[in-house]
Amino acid sequence: MVKPKILILLASPRGFCAGVDRAIQIVERALEKYGAPVYVRHEIVHNRTVVQDLESKGGIFVDDLDQVPQDAPVVFSAHGVAKSVPAEATRRGLIQVDATCPLVTKVHREADQHHKAGRPVVLIGHSGHPEVEGTLGQLPAGAMHLVETPADAADLDLPADAEVAFVTQTTLAVDDTAEIVAALGRRLPSLVAPRKEDICYATTNRQNAVKAIAERCDAMIVIGAPNSSNSVRLTEVARQSGCAKAILVQGPEDMDWEMIQGATTVGITAGASAPEKLVDQILDALRERFEVTVEEVAVTSEDVRFKLPTTLDA
Ligand code: SF4
Repeated sequence: MVKPKILILLASPRGFCAGVDRAIQIVERALEKYGAPVYVRHEIVHNRTVVQDLESKGGIFVDDLDQVPQDAPVVFSAHGVAKSVPAEATRRGLIQVDATCPLVTKVHREADQHHKAGRPVVLIGHSGHPEVEGTLGQLPAGAMHLVETPADAADLDLPADAEVAFVTQTTLAVDDTAEIVAALGRRLPSLVAPRKEDICYATTNRQNAVKAIAERCDAMIVIGAPNSSNSVRLTEVARQSGCAKAILVQGPEDMDWEMIQGATTVGITAGASAPEKLVDQILDALRERFEVTVEEVAVTSEDVRFKLPTTLDA
């Protein structure tokens, strides 16, 4: 049977960022240094392939510290944790290894500095996301105001003449966040912005790469987990940028083949926590059904690397 032809546009950059790469290496190094099992509080990054791989090496993923036995090593995930978590780990005598992405730590420091300077702090982010829980937990309960939409910004219970600072989740949609910041600025004219953007380089680059190909695509396949903020944002950005059919899949088993029926050009990208082997698996599944031509479209290159904690040195 003659297979239909399809052009695949591979967005670049895509997939693993420096923070995810570092977090995975931290768990692997902790396993080497302390031996299995090593406990990991929360999914180290939001990807089941990564989690299953680390489980096979001796990682045990838990939701709460009280699931970690006394004196055991515990790794905190790339999303960061509230200050109460390391405090509790110290009280329990656990060996702590922090895999918080340095770009999340930067946001934590900003919030802390503004609070110490007496400024109320607004956090733009998605309620319930672990990064947001961790950032909110940098300040005493109730000290940070969570804003999710422009309407929330307009409704803030703060005096209009207050000097208020804002920080953001690192994985938000760049354009949606600009709208929320504009609404905040109208509500609070003395608003203090971060010195350097809180939305991280990896989030921004992956969204720009999707924008660059969206109009050419009949459909867009975004590889990532449903609880991965930056992956979900990539599907939204694809739709907003001219590709109405955008789906989020964790792997070939999730593919909606009906959706790309009749498509001649399909885009592929992957969230910051999705390994490249999943891109290869999707391409293999496409090749079984189509005569595939691949064109990689790069908007920039990345060379960011983060150092590992020295506590993991042998
Ligand atoms: S998406 Fe950005 S903030 Fe999150 S781990 Fe990756 S580099 Fe760090």
